[in-house]
Amino acid sequence: MPAVVRIAAALALGLAGPALAAPAPAVPAVTTAPAPAAEPFSLAPLPYAFEALEPAIDSQTMRIHHGRHHQGYVNNLNAAVKATPALQGKSLEAIMAEVQNYPPAVRNNGGGHYNHTLFWSLMAPPGQGGEPSAALAAQIQKDFGSMQAFKDAFQAAGAQRFGSGWAWLVWTGDRLAVTSTPNQDNPLMGDAPVKGAPVIANDVWEHAYYLKYQSNRGAYLTNWWSVLNWNEANRLFAAATR
Ligand code: MN
Repeated sequence: MPAVVRIAAALALGLAGPALAAPAPAVPAVTTAPAPAAEPFSLAPLPYAFEALEPAIDSQTMRIHHGRHHQGYVNNLNAAVKATPALQGKSLEAIMAEVQNYPPAVRNNGGGHYNHTLFWSLMAPPGQGGEPSAALAAQIQKDFGSMQAFKDAFQAAGAQRFGSGWAWLVWTGDRLAVTSTPNQDNPLMGDAPVKGAPVIANDVWEHAYYLKYQSNRGAYLTNWWSVLNWNEANRLFAAATR
């Protein structure tokens, strides 16, 4: 504010001394605006290019799915955490374990952030996902009878999930199990009907496949095996059974 205006304003407020007093010298600012507080959670870049999963998943779907949908879950989760003191400083996994105690925005957006972070890591460009480890292959054989029987069960879980949700392969503590969840629920949630450590996860929301596959979720599920990152599934299984 220019000095003349400042004096006029002060006079108007009755705060000035004698009308002809010299204006106070301008005081240089010694502080800057505070940096915005760090957000509790953030969206990591994809570990591959948007087009890297073609032809199974097209680049536009990946761009929208990561940049719009996943970013939206992160933004809304951060808002929910800021509005809920009991959540502050907690890991996402810890929040999932007691999610039933919090508002639905925490379930939907916390689940959305967890599930999508996992999902991106569980995909790789065709030919780069590796093969099932000996340990994981043996456990699949034991619990499902064959690799094909596991794949059939996993695809059926994804195909039969009514509306939006996820298909999962989880380690329950003593065996592998296929399950599915609605919306952005996951097997870490304290009230999940089948709890376990995720080993493989597939997103069966229409936003994951509709641009390329329209209503043909089954074709998406079939083609998805070509981009499954077995190397990451092997790592998750090893960590869960350590
Ligand atoms: Mn999704």
